[in-house]
Amino acid sequence: MALIVHKYGGTSMGSTERIALVAKRVAKWARAGHKMVVVPSAMSGETNRLLALAKELAPAKPGDAYNRELDMLASTGEQASSALLAIALQAEGLEAVSYAGWQVAIKTNSAHTKARIESIDDKKVRADLDAGRVVIVTGFQGVDELGNITTLGRGGSDTSAVAVAAALKADECLIYTDVDGVYTTDPRVVPEARRLHTVSFEEMLEMASMGSKVLQIRSVEFAGKYKVKMRVLSSFTPWDIDMNEEATSGTLITFEEDEDMEQAVVSGIAFNRDEAKISVLGVPDTPGIAYKIVGAVADANIEIDMIIQNVSKEGKTDFSFTVHRNDFAKAVDLLNSKVIAVLGAKEVVGDAKICKVSIVGIGMRSHVGIASKMFSCLAEEGINIQMISTSEIKTSVVIDEKYMELAVRALHKVFGLDQAVA
Ligand code: ADP
Ligand code: ASP
Ligand code: MG
Repeated sequence: MALIVHKYGGTSMGSTERIALVAKRVAKWARAGHKMVVVPSAMSGETNRLLALAKELAPAKPGDAYNRELDMLASTGEQASSALLAIALQAEGLEAVSYAGWQVAIKTNSAHTKARIESIDDKKVRADLDAGRVVIVTGFQGVDELGNITTLGRGGSDTSAVAVAAALKADECLIYTDVDGVYTTDPRVVPEARRLHTVSFEEMLEMASMGSKVLQIRSVEFAGKYKVKMRVLSSFTPWDIDMNEEATSGTLITFEEDEDMEQAVVSGIAFNRDEAKISVLGVPDTPGIAYKIVGAVADANIEIDMIIQNVSKEGKTDFSFTVHRNDFAKAVDLLNSKVIAVLGAKEVVGDAKICKVSIVGIGMRSHVGIASKMFSCLAEEGINIQMISTSEIKTSVVIDEKYMELAVRALHKVFGLDQAVA
């Protein structure tokens, strides 16, 4: 008998029919003797619907007062799907109870719309499990120390599930979604993409952070920190599929490098359309400029991703960086109103129509020439590279967003990912 956490994404919870199938699947696991905790997302489209209602009344405004209400609003999506799943499980003849994040409690910091989990009290959940109940915990949300409801950023139910699994020291966290595992790239963009039977934790971390939205990055971080055994699999297999077959399907995130395994140099390609590029032009090139620009942006709680500073010509330089598109207008305003004059810079220009494409693989550590192969592939396609960043196991480029699919497909082919492994 094991303690298992299941997470079901929006499509998997997308209708009452689908919720009924989820309940049948969970009931199968519970009847096999496992202690079951389930973390559902909102029904598909619900979070978008709710956030769009807010926008109808007032455009997104920076600031805590507005974001606090967005969290109040968006968190209801998961509250509804959790209660529906509990009802469906009860209809299956099981004892089931659902809790909102604040009832557990899942404590977070106060960064509304992108809060981080700080602690989880496992008492209530354990008591229910010991009493033989299936426990459903809302994904995507928590509560701050003042009692405000918070949400964890889009896709945050993955993180809720892994954090709950870590707190309960669960034997495994199964992430059920609408694809049957982690692929070499998004199978919706490259139909030739191949499913990976295993992916190393480090690669998954890079793929998630580079934009592969199959898992939210923080869920992978949690899995790494607390060594949670995590698997991505499909909720679209028949619910009564053999349990052993189900438990070994999909993609396992592994923590040990398998020395015997023939390591692909590049394991996957990730892309991200969510960023925008900002350039501060004509900055007097003196010590402290990077700090003044980046510091001002960071103080406004805006995360910066890639940074590039050009060589200085006649004592002036250009400084470019990328931010999330949601923060683009705010960052440009901030630089125009507070930073340009202090720096004595010429102007701020922005481009929201960019994307970032990354190749990821632990095999890159021991191979040279991978980045140049990437650049030559893009050159052959006539795609201009605007920014580059590298780490031990990834190379990322920023390109015009209109070339994204072309770039991903070409790179997928060049690095041999289209082919089946022998
Ligand atoms: P859920 O609602 O279950 O959380 P998401 O839409 O958040 O599902 O994530 C699953 C989707 O992630 C897939 O439908 C797929 O289009 C996309 N995706 C992006 N990159 C990958 C990848 N490398 N492997 C598998 N799916 C990917
Ligand atoms: N419902 C939230 C979202 O749409 C969280 C999630 O699905 O993981 O982003
Ligand atoms: Mg998701």
